[in-house]
Amino acid sequence: MLGPAESAEARVFIELAGERGSMPATMEVTCTADECELDMAELHYTYDVPDDVSTADLRCPYCGSETSLAEIEL
Ligand SMILES: [Zn+2]
Repeated sequence: MLGPAESAEARVFIELAGERGSMPATMEVTCTADECELDMAELHYTYDVPDDVSTADLRCPYCGSETSLAEIEL
């Protein structure tokens, strides 16, 4: 059983963990290469991924292009 103090600390921790998400937990991407048949892929990150990781750091899993991935804003 958690006492009142411990449960309050746990709640703060949960709220801070939620606010870590300037980075999306998931991201939908598409490949913009004309010859590529990748329609959409959903990426799932862990919280260990740096905040500045973007589609520019990734390559298409289908055609391998390093420049054609684009995030889909839902
Ligand atoms: Zn592609």
